[in-house]
Amino acid sequence: MSSFSRRHFFSAAAGLAAAASTPRIVFAQASPAAPAAPTGPFAVPPLAYPTNALEPHVDARTMEIHHDKHHGAYVAALNTIAKTNPQLGASAVEDVLGNLNALNDDIKSAVRNNLGGHANHTMFWAIMGPNGGKPEGEVLAAIERDLGGLEKFQTDFNAAGGRQFGSGWVFVTVTRDGKLAIETRPNQDTPIMDGKRVLMGNDVWEHAYYLNYQNRRADYLKAWWNTVNWNKISERYAAAKAGTLGV
Ligand code: MN
Repeated sequence: MSSFSRRHFFSAAAGLAAAASTPRIVFAQASPAAPAAPTGPFAVPPLAYPTNALEPHVDARTMEIHHDKHHGAYVAALNTIAKTNPQLGASAVEDVLGNLNALNDDIKSAVRNNLGGHANHTMFWAIMGPNGGKPEGEVLAAIERDLGGLEKFQTDFNAAGGRQFGSGWVFVTVTRDGKLAIETRPNQDTPIMDGKRVLMGNDVWEHAYYLNYQNRRADYLKAWWNTVNWNKISERYAAAKAGTLGV
């Protein structure tokens, strides 16, 4: 088919469709499926629980938007960068984040933001879940030894998250010998960028809580503890001590 006749064919077909369509069909034609997300080495890890599993503390709509759209945007940006920088997708995330200065200047800032966001959210989905139990064993002992006990730890963690001006995260870092510390970072930065490892963390960007809590970050921080999966955190603690904890 020549290019002229192809144009003629499609314009005729479009005319027929428009003439035959009801308003509902016209609406559907005006809303084509979203283009497929750029594919590449990065992917948003699926949630291990339904999006409504953390209600009422974190609502399903927030989880959907946060997981699919916000984390999805970081992943899409990384896959775009990886098209022209294939080594990005071939390296361990924690290795790239721990050596950002090795990156070319034209991608350094974008990798910092988007790979930091990918690492932070991958950790975040993993350490939440329904029926998350209570801290026990080695993790509880470390909380008592390094953070003044569970109650003081939660109070201090919430206070640090509340003090983080604007967008950012509050983390618990863990050393190879199991020592814990509370640390905050702005934006999508992570202690991994300083060669550290993250045991757990909470997202204090407004997108993490605004639909349900609006400006009440303190209420979100307090309620969020009901969503923590302590079994997963115990696994991460053991991995940190074994030197195998990634993001
Ligand atoms: Mn987030």
